[in-house]
Amino acid sequence: HILVHEVSKYYQGLPALKNVSLEILPGTVTVILGPSGSGKSTLLRTLNCLEKADKGFVQIDNEFMGYTLKNNKLYELKEKELLKQRIHVGYVFQNFNLFPHMTVLENIIEAPIVHGLLTREDAIKNAYELLEIVGLKDKANTWPKQLSGGQQQRIAIARALALSPKVMLFDEPTSALDPELVKEVLNAIKKLASLGTTLVIVTHEIGFAREIADNIVFMVEGEIVETGPSDTIFQNPKHPRTQQFLSQVL
Ligand code: ATP
Ligand code: MG
Repeated sequence: HILVHEVSKYYQGLPALKNVSLEILPGTVTVILGPSGSGKSTLLRTLNCLEKADKGFVQIDNEFMGYTLKNNKLYELKEKELLKQRIHVGYVFQNFNLFPHMTVLENIIEAPIVHGLLTREDAIKNAYELLEIVGLKDKANTWPKQLSGGQQQRIAIARALALSPKVMLFDEPTSALDPELVKEVLNAIKKLASLGTTLVIVTHEIGFAREIADNIVFMVEGEIVETGPSDTIFQNPKHPRTQQFLSQVL
């Protein structure tokens, strides 16, 4: 359960997020749409504390992101504790930066072992299950550079899943891929949705958004101008900016 409460974020005095509030229920798929520079990536980064909100707060399953609650007071987490908290928020970037010096399997088992979540044996077992989900079971002992961009991105997804995240965040997961590789990555994400994983996705793939989203969040200039069930937004957008945006992309 994710709660974004009146979050604002400024860069050099200029607002990137203005008083953004949002609730995301477990097992739902939320797609964030909006023009370039509207704050989609910034919102995603504040969800897992890659960026700290200047105002407001983010709660994931009642934990305040970036803070610890002691005697009813919030204290900022130190870097090490922050990393620990962020383990449970999966993040998949545009550029699937796999560890080049590790095999696919090693890439996936590294973090859960290092963080003491799984024994090596369990991590390996889990990794094969995740490889099955992303359709790359036969690539366990391959090196990242031997894989296509689409395959690397699917491994990056498996690697994030290996930490059993409460939510998976995707920031334009297919925008760095050749067109013919986009579909396999979108299919892997669809598979996660069908398994009930909570997903928050920034994408410009409108057809995909329409297919997968339970809810749409539409942003303009750092604000959520419209949000609601996907069907409603696509069939009957209310805000002129949403209407304009959808008429351009549909
Ligand atoms: P795009 O679709 O192009 O990825 P976006 O909706 O993800 O755009 P953001 O990257 O969140 O937009 O940026 C929102 C605003 O904040 C923009 O005006 C951007 O220039 C600014 N911004 C984002 N990151 C930084 C940063 N690290 N330093 C300064 N300004 C930033
Ligand atoms: Mg962005």
